[in-house]
Amino acid sequence: MMQTTAVVIGAGHAGLAMSRRLTERSIDHIVLERGEVANSWRTQRWPSLRLLTPNWQTRLPGHDYADGDPNGFTPVAGVVATLARYARLVGAPVRAATTVHTVRAVPQGFAIHAGDDLLRARAVVLATGACNLPAIPGAAGTLPPSVTTLTPLSYRDPGQLPNGGVLVVGASASGVQLADEIHRSGRPVTLAAGEHVRLPRTYRGRDIFWWLEATGLLAERYDQIDDLTRARHLPSPQLTGTPGAAIMDLNTLAARGIRIVGRLGRVADGVAQFSGSLANTCALADLKMNRFLKRADQWATAAGLDGDLPPPHRFAPTHVDPRTPLELDLTSGEITTVLWATGFRPDHSWLDIPVRDRTGYIRHDGGVVTGAPGLYVLGMPVLRTRASTYIHGAADDSDALASHILSFLSSQRR
Ligand SMILES: Cc1cc2nc3c(=O)[nH]c(=O)nc-3n(C[C@H](O)[C@H](O)[C@H](O)COP(=O)(O)OP(=O)(O)OC[C@H]3O[C@@H](n4cnc5c(N)ncnc54)[C@H](O)[C@@H]3O)c2cc1C
Repeated sequence: MMQTTAVVIGAGHAGLAMSRRLTERSIDHIVLERGEVANSWRTQRWPSLRLLTPNWQTRLPGHDYADGDPNGFTPVAGVVATLARYARLVGAPVRAATTVHTVRAVPQGFAIHAGDDLLRARAVVLATGACNLPAIPGAAGTLPPSVTTLTPLSYRDPGQLPNGGVLVVGASASGVQLADEIHRSGRPVTLAAGEHVRLPRTYRGRDIFWWLEATGLLAERYDQIDDLTRARHLPSPQLTGTPGAAIMDLNTLAARGIRIVGRLGRVADGVAQFSGSLANTCALADLKMNRFLKRADQWATAAGLDGDLPPPHRFAPTHVDPRTPLELDLTSGEITTVLWATGFRPDHSWLDIPVRDRTGYIRHDGGVVTGAPGLYVLGMPVLRTRASTYIHGAADDSDALASHILSFLSSQRR
């Protein structure tokens, strides 16, 4: 049986950042990875995807973006290359092709069954990702068998789909991008839009992520957010990282010929039923976007930047066609594919420690797992700040948690 001080599970950006932080503190550790470094980007993302965060924001501990296109958006292959390079840069002790089957609490630490081995560690960091499984609503089970179903984890390109119309369920980042790509392939696309976050790609000449960072929104701490559960389950913004920084909101998609309908409620007798509150949902998304733009304008004025930036302006409200259908017969042959772009969830089912709530999510306080001293989780949305949802958030999160691990190990020694 192998013994190490700490085990990090997962060699995505979060696990690699943690490895770097543990090395900085001379904490002996290994990183267990079921595939290769950046496995999720290699195996679970569609090839045309680009990061929706601009390149300058891809900051990890000891690594700043320096490849000459700070305002561009890295494609999936580039993310894989960046993370592979980063793993080498920080000398992460990654054990690839080693799936963790179980983690159990034992006296003085944890027993980890990984690959064919049993390991012992005093601290374990779960960095296995927040997007391991598609979150599919109950309505999925009632689709007619003639309809092909896909999720963003299994989708690769439109060529994979049968001929015919496509219903994309979910209008967040994945849903709007895939609706657009599939529509461009010549298939008629219907997009079911529930609650969504509308944001412009750029505002007053700056990328929206510049504003989200500059105004301090991304730095808001988890223990200062009123409704943390809601913040942690907020849909991703309707953004895409196209080279031309294109806007990807519902007005744009509708103008391209994509039919927008309300939230999918249920499928009964092969008929998809959509909510009639699309206009309200869109009005709310517009309101929230305008609230943020107001905050951005106030911040710019207070920072004395009004002279350097183009003047404030507002975007056209989302137009909702009053003839939007409330039903779609999925047995008619019009729709041959349903793509569930309804979000993702983590998979910690292999964790043999009772730290998950009834919905399956790990209970934690800023990444320090509740009721299991020495166990940590990293890479979850709004883990410690709103930035935790994005790659660059792992820099501060891993720093804070590595410090906690160091104190925990010292307290055990005493
Ligand atoms: C479609 C999509 C687009 C995104 N776009 C952006 C973006 O533009 N900008 C941004 O900042 N963020 C983006 N994100 C969010 C986030 O940065 C990614 O989800 C990121 O991959 C999370 O990194 P991670 O290291 O936490 O997890 P992952 O990258 O998922 O890494 C977890 C690793 O753990 C491994 N693993 C899992 N289970 C086990 C096990 N039992 N044993 C061993 N290894 C295991 C996996 O193989 C994987 O390599 C996006 C997410 C998705 C899904």
